[in-house]
Amino acid sequence: MAFSSTLPIPTGSTVDVSIIDGGRITMPTAYVLSNQLPGHDVLEMPCYSFLIENKKSGKKVLFDLGLMKAWREKEPPAIHSQIESAQAKLEVQHDVSDQLRDAGIPLESINAIIWSHHHLDHTGDPSLFPSSTSLVLGPGFKKNNITFPGYPENPDSLIDGEAFKGRELIELDFSNSLNIGGFPAIDFFGDGSFYILQSEGHTHEHMSALARTSQDHYIFLAGDIAHYPGEYRPSQYLPLPTEISPSPLDHKLQPTSICPASVFEKIHPSAAIAGHCRTTPFYQLPEFGCVDLQKARNSLDNMEALDGSAKVFVIIAHDASLLDVVPFFPKKISDWNMQAYKRLGAWRFLKDLVKKVNRIQNDGV
Ligand SMILES: [Zn+2]
Ligand SMILES: [Zn+2]
Repeated sequence: MAFSSTLPIPTGSTVDVSIIDGGRITMPTAYVLSNQLPGHDVLEMPCYSFLIENKKSGKKVLFDLGLMKAWREKEPPAIHSQIESAQAKLEVQHDVSDQLRDAGIPLESINAIIWSHHHLDHTGDPSLFPSSTSLVLGPGFKKNNITFPGYPENPDSLIDGEAFKGRELIELDFSNSLNIGGFPAIDFFGDGSFYILQSEGHTHEHMSALARTSQDHYIFLAGDIAHYPGEYRPSQYLPLPTEISPSPLDHKLQPTSICPASVFEKIHPSAAIAGHCRTTPFYQLPEFGCVDLQKARNSLDNMEALDGSAKVFVIIAHDASLLDVVPFFPKKISDWNMQAYKRLGAWRFLKDLVKKVNRIQNDGV
């Protein structure tokens, strides 16, 4: 089956997409990725929230909220223990709700908040939104004791109960749904502009989204299918080019700079297997950090195939390599294809491995 046949037929409406800065988590790489590459000791993970606006109806939804500013006061005790044991440092300048208000977008105009899953770096603070904003949850959310009802009513809950109070909770049901790129999918606005996809594995209720930004171009909002671009790049669908441009070795993004791929082939864990390192990711999906490894791998495989399409811009929730590539809210990234954000950002993560490259070059290995 041709890959393009797994994308929706290009006849739907379109949405505008903005990325909102939802704070940052910094933690040791070993807590997020397995077989950490030497020198790649710390992961700085921005937490992205996405504003989606249907261009025809004007309806607005948020996909994820990042971190909440008042996490110290409001997050349940179990979350504080998780933060401590992961040696995570959290930084949040502004809640997403404040950023919307500052940009002149009334919170009453936000129809729904969609949670990709229940982790604190995605759930933000829905209690800051009016009761007219509904909360969209993945399958099984309300049956899971660690997610619902919220804390303190449910002492085991990882979610502050204020998030649910007084608003409509919509738990999605993917039975009898469409199939997009191997994922069960729901046409959220009913006009082909924005699909919610069931992408289990990282958590049971995990969801992603596919936003149509032009008739034949999409942004795939991956959530936590992966936490680092090196988990899905390079791949058989998006091989490492012989010459990488822009060069990831330049500290500043210079669109026309070039670096030979051989520099990075040398440090690939599969360097010894001929031909492997151009089509195999630098990192494998870790066995920890997911509730179902097989389903998590399936979701990652599906995402790799989408990443190989020039029509799809894949953005994981914590992709730090895009920080100096894309403009942030209130600007939009709907014209990502015209602006070449995917080409400019695809290999930028390799700069994190620069320390190791330098060491190998200096040692003459
Ligand atoms: Zn997560
Ligand atoms: Zn996350």
